[in-house]
Amino acid sequence: MNTQEFIQIEEEYGAHNYHPLDVVITRGEGVWVYDVDGRKYLDCLSAYSALNQGHVHPEILAALVEQAGKVTLTSRAFRNDQLPLLYKELSELTGYGMSLPMNSGAEAVETALKIARKWAYQVKKVPRHQAEIITAAGNFHGRTISTISFSTEPLYRDDFGPFTPGFVTVPYGDAEAVAKAITPNTAAVLLEPIQGEGGVIIPPAGYLKKVAELCKQNNVLFIADEIQTGLGRTGKLFAAQHEDVRPDVTVIGKALAGGFYPVSAVLADKEILGLFTPGEHGSTFGGNPLAAAVARAALRVIVEENLVQRAAELGEYFAEQLAEIGSPLVKEVRGRGLLIGVEMKKEAGGARRFCEALQKRGILAKETHEHVIRFAPPLVIDKATIDWALPSIRAVLNDRGA
Ligand SMILES: *Cc1c(COP(=O)(O)O)cnc(C)c1O
Repeated sequence: MNTQEFIQIEEEYGAHNYHPLDVVITRGEGVWVYDVDGRKYLDCLSAYSALNQGHVHPEILAALVEQAGKVTLTSRAFRNDQLPLLYKELSELTGYGMSLPMNSGAEAVETALKIARKWAYQVKKVPRHQAEIITAAGNFHGRTISTISFSTEPLYRDDFGPFTPGFVTVPYGDAEAVAKAITPNTAAVLLEPIQGEGGVIIPPAGYLKKVAELCKQNNVLFIADEIQTGLGRTGKLFAAQHEDVRPDVTVIGKALAGGFYPVSAVLADKEILGLFTPGEHGSTFGGNPLAAAVARAALRVIVEENLVQRAAELGEYFAEQLAEIGSPLVKEVRGRGLLIGVEMKKEAGGARRFCEALQKRGILAKETHEHVIRFAPPLVIDKATIDWALPSIRAVLNDRGA
């Protein structure tokens, strides 16, 4: 079957909750993917940063295959011999005393919200069911009813109410607004250190530090959603570290399993995560041995291959080169590490057509928020590959179109 035939079947039988580029991928290796018609593309999206380690990383593949032949699922009704080691290795890598495994990112965010509420009632002594959580405009924390309840994107929420109460939204990047929104009932502030889906929005310098201080002063938890920014993407293990901030709770997902498997986790110290008691929260698949084995290998690859450092160095180079293109259609190039957004001017006609033009030249990128093209290749990319891509990107960004 060719590309058009696959697309036709997909459109006929699948719900249309995405608007993908018309490329049907059949194989991936490192930074490259191949479509069913034999064309080769540089992946500049990395499945929204789930593929920091690159496609089908051999070490993670080996761990997956080995574990799949032993035992894949025990449920948490029984223990398995992979999860304890994942806990320990996560703690050693991140410095948090405990973690709680889930599957999707949205589930891990939900978990963080639940533990923040429990902390508010048990520790801070907020009157029961009155806890408030402060979130930022332009956020993306997933697609569940609760996480869209504090979305400010009409498309994500307009037809999906009624919403979960208990959330307050303030402008992103404005620490004063957070200060004003804090009340005696505030349990937590939930933020992305950089808003990925929001259009690669980098807050003003000092923002995260200021929010962390406010949280400390007011006995409020600081929850960082590092599902997209974490595990090396921005040139630090966590993006909050660019401001030397250690949030009380950090949520990770995506690259935690190198694209092989949905694995997410909430990281925090014992005083917080230790508050959960048996039965209060759980997941049939969360922490299963296959997930744990894959995540352990994915974390090893991040460390062994120095992916954090690579992201810092190559990201700086890539962003510099993108800025040097100097296209009159580009409003701004911004980024941290290998999370780079190229914002097109409004008159350029939307980022989508540039992504389609890049696809024709063998580069897969995706528009985010209408006017921004995100460049976030796997962190295993090398300089030669960036140099290969730059002339095509230059040609596309300068193309005024029809
Ligand atoms: C992708 C993402 C999520 C949701 O993760 P899923 O695995 O799609 O549920 C949440 N927060 C951020 C910042 C993300 O980028």
